Order: sequence, then C-alpha cells, then structure tokens
Amino acid sequence: MKNRLTIAIQKKGRLFDQSTDLIKKSGINFSTKGDNLLAKSNNLPIDILFVRSDDIPSLVSNGDADLAIVGENVLIEKSLFKRTYIEKIIDLGFSKCRLSFAAPKNNKIKNFNNMKIATSYPNTVKKYLKDNNINASVTNIHGSVELTPYIGMSDIICDLVSSGATLEANNLKEIEVILQSQAVLIKNKNLTKNKEKIADKVISRIQGVVNAIESKYVMLNVDASKVKEICKLLPGSESPTIIPLEDSKKVAIHALCQEPIFWETMEKLKAKGASSILVMPVEKILN
Ligand code: ATP
Repeated sequence: MKNRLTIAIQKKGRLFDQSTDLIKKSGINFSTKGDNLLAKSNNLPIDILFVRSDDIPSLVSNGDADLAIVGENVLIEKSLFKRTYIEKIIDLGFSKCRLSFAAPKNNKIKNFNNMKIATSYPNTVKKYLKDNNINASVTNIHGSVELTPYIGMSDIICDLVSSGATLEANNLKEIEVILQSQAVLIKNKNLTKNKEKIADKVISRIQGVVNAIESKYVMLNVDASKVKEICKLLPGSESPTIIPLEDSKKVAIHALCQEPIFWETMEKLKAKGASSILVMPVEKILN
C-alpha cells in the first residue's frame, strides 16, 4: 500500500452513511461488498479501510491510515495525555453532538465534588475535572451508561447527547456540556511526498463538497438603481455578476452565497424590490 493513500472510516454506526457519501461525492469511486473491511478505489490510488471509530485515532497516528473521518469527541478522548501524529484538517458539519453531564431528574446536584461519574470518555472527563479543581471518581463503561445511576454504579453520567431523547427516555436531565463535537477529517502528520500529493487532492475535493453544502446560487432581477442595496443583503457572496436585461432599467444579479439563505433573507430582498428570486443548490465548489 506504499503508493496508495488509505482513508479510514467507521465500518458501521452513525458516521458510516455520511462518511461514504462524502467520499463518493469527492469523486473517489469504490464499491463495498458485504462485510469487506477494505475497498479499493478504481479511479484513484486510494484504499478505504472500514474500522471501529475508537481505533481510528491510533491508526492515523501510527501511519496505518493516512486520512480518516472520525467524531471529534473520539479524537480528543484518544489524543489526551499522549503524543500523537494527527492533524485535524476540516470540520465536516455532520454528526453534531455534545458530551454532557447528566443526572437522574430527582437528583438535586449542587456540584460534582465526591460524585461517582460513569462515562465512555474517561480521559475527557478527567481533564475537565482537573481543569475545574473537582474531586470526583470516574468509572469507564463502554455502553448503557444511562443505566449506571439506577444500579448504584454512579451518581451522574457523562455521555454524548444530540437531541436529548435518550436522556429523557431514561429520566435523566442534562446538567452541563463539556464538549461540542462533529465529524472531522484528520490526517497523519508525516505522509510521504507521494501520499501528500494524493491527500492534497482529496482534502481539496472534500473541502469543496463541504463548502457547497451551505452554499446557494442566487439569481434575481432588480432595478439597476438598487444593485448596491441588494448585494449587501446577499450573505457570503464575494462579487456578484450583474447582467443587463431587455428592460434597460433592470438588471439580473447572480451570486454564489457561501452562507445559508433563509426565507427571511428572501423576504428582505423582495421588500427591496427584487423579483423572480431563485435560490439553487450548489453541488461542488473549487476555490
Ligand atoms: P465504534 O465505531 O467504535 O463502535 P460507537 O459505538 O461510538 O463507535 P456510534 O454510536 O455509531 O459508534 O457513534 C459514532 C459517533 O457518532 C460518535 O463518536 C459521535 O461522534 C457521533 N454521534 C452523534 N450523535 C451521537 C449521539 N447522540 N450518541 C452517540 N454518538 C453520537
């Protein structure tokens, strides 16, 4: 695999679908068969490794994988208290969640001193306790963390939350967020020149797909005298194109907006005299 770049992604779980989708949208063609743990791209010198999320930081740090997609929570947990050779490259904007303390709803907690805390993220929790001068004990458990307060194993838990529905279903309340997380693209810091070249191409394509997600192409017509006012309302657009129309008083404005366009923005554009306002999705951007 010396001259082929390896990209590690989660083999199954919450990150799998969006990771494979992102890689495919970046023009890296590969097919997966059944439980195969390795897929070879047929159009680029790239291999995809399907592994457990927990193993991804050490695979990248040791150079067994060159790039990877992983939750930032896992990256932080596995990188604390040791030297790693990992560089975070891009915030990918999906799998957003937070690591939070939570306790049974009837438990009136004043502070965390002398508490028993159960978590799958012991390093992150220990760092938080140390930074905040809290004296508490931490128990590492890999799953069913929400159960631990009810069997006497813990007073409070520290676990990942996205909607809060799992906490609610277990009669737990969120007390404090200690980390915000999302999927990130990471890279080994010591790639060979050859691999660095392939990695640069992949990174720029992935960045292009990520940029496009929030971007919209906006087209509208307006009175030529209103161009400046209208352009000020277009979020994240660099230099819109102004095209004359048959009606000589009017122009068309076309702009790439690298920020979301909400209904409120469209309503403001309309109020300033814009008409035929079209907002279209953008698939890829190469800056
Ligand atoms: P492994 O691949 O090692 O089995 P896992 O059991 O943690 O990992 P998932 O439950 O699929 O796998 O979670 C993968 C990642 O998804 C988490 O590390 C986190 O970054 C993200 N995530 C987003 N929302 C949540 C949530 N509500 N609960 C757990 N993880 C979440």
